[in-house]
Amino acid sequence: MKMIIMGPPGAGKGTQASTIASAAGVPAISTGEIFRRHVAEKTELGTKVAALIEAGEYVPDELTNELVASRLSEDDAQEGFLLDGYPRNPAQVAKLDEILEEMDTELDLALELVLDRETLVERLLGRAKTEGRADDTEEVIRRRMEVYEEQTRPISDIYASRGILRQVDGDGSIEEVAERLAAAISDRSGHHR
Ligand code: AMP
Repeated sequence: MKMIIMGPPGAGKGTQASTIASAAGVPAISTGEIFRRHVAEKTELGTKVAALIEAGEYVPDELTNELVASRLSEDDAQEGFLLDGYPRNPAQVAKLDEILEEMDTELDLALELVLDRETLVERLLGRAKTEGRADDTEEVIRRRMEVYEEQTRPISDIYASRGILRQVDGDGSIEEVAERLAAAISDRSGHHR
């Protein structure tokens, strides 16, 4: 299965991605995680993207696309993968189409976690407090939400029009949401075979 998972900031996308990817036996590929590693290791890429990430803005497509193209060419991604946090705008959707076409394959499923905006802001503010993340101010949190609405939300329509979008209610415990996602995946792999 070749899948992507999208969802607004605070939806628990990263946690869910690792769980469902290992259940499906495919690597979870998180662009956010790769960027954070570069920032922590102070690589050239890391120094370029640190300020953007901290401000809740997206990294430029050229940098992101290149990173994904190279990651998807690795051996472990040939039979399947779960992209977490990519694509994040329509131009990245087009780029991913190209990458997959070159691999002579296509996407099977786009999962979207759906949650109410205020629930998300509350969650993120709570998390900022308990984890003592001073950079996660309400301003940055609202900005992240805005960027998601403007740039990323539209890609769910693209995948819907292709018939591969599955929206999943993201409100509930980690286990409940994981079960809903697993059901969407097994439903799709039934069609797929
Ligand atoms: P995430 O962990 O998916 O929330 O990603 C953390 C941050 O990394 C985002 O807020 C962006 O600044 C950056 N990022 C991750 N994936 C992308 C992407 N596909 N396009 C642009 N920026 C990204």
